[in-house]
Amino acid sequence: MTKNYMIGNWKMNQTQKEVTTFFNELNELGVPEGNFGIAPQLIHIPLAQSLTKKTSVKIGAQNCSSENFGAFTGETSTDSLKDLGVEFTLIGHSERRSYYNESDSIINKKVIKALSTNLLPVLCIGETLEERKADKTLDIVLGQIKAGLQSVKLENSDQIILAYEPVWAIGTGETATPDQAEEVHLAIRNLLKELYGSVGEKISLLYGGSVKPENVVELLAKPNINGGLVGGASLKAESFYALCKACL
Ligand code: PGA
Repeated sequence: MTKNYMIGNWKMNQTQKEVTTFFNELNELGVPEGNFGIAPQLIHIPLAQSLTKKTSVKIGAQNCSSENFGAFTGETSTDSLKDLGVEFTLIGHSERRSYYNESDSIINKKVIKALSTNLLPVLCIGETLEERKADKTLDIVLGQIKAGLQSVKLENSDQIILAYEPVWAIGTGETATPDQAEEVHLAIRNLLKELYGSVGEKISLLYGGSVKPENVVELLAKPNINGGLVGGASLKAESFYALCKACL
């Protein structure tokens, strides 16, 4: 069966105090067993790990380097993340692609690097509003996947997660309708089946872009939407808890 995931991407938010409050409140609410994750700022990872120890919430990174070790100021290697007990890393988030010029080939190197260190990559893809208006959504999204997964061999469906996040829906309050999202997810599923056969049938495909407790249920009701990658609505324990419950 395809696993459902709910992953919070905290971006450059939360202080130590807020991280502590979040996990204390979440633990109090009694987060259920499931495939849940939070990617805090890098510097808060050990704190988050210490607070979530007794729950099923996994702690991940928002980015990783495509290189091993060496003179790459400001970067973090997948080996160091793994060494710290980090369980997954986002790769190719649209903010990385647009603000830090991450190309498909860098993203591909990062995916390969993460896989080689057994760090679960969450490969993010998505079209801009201009691309959607020009009817290029599927070309862009499927192209990003083919490039991001170039030479990537997968033995099982748990080795990678994909997150479709239309850029126009991120942080805007404007969510893709469940039908719009499912149309893209179905095309992604078909491509993954072409690339990876039966493994591709079960890879988890998350939707991201203004997911919140109010819209998550109808999104998750679609057959090829296997969870969410959530920014704003993952910052408060109560809201993240509601998202996790919807994802079981
Ligand atoms: P959002 O962000 O939920 O605030 O739209 C999603 C993301 O960037 O992953």
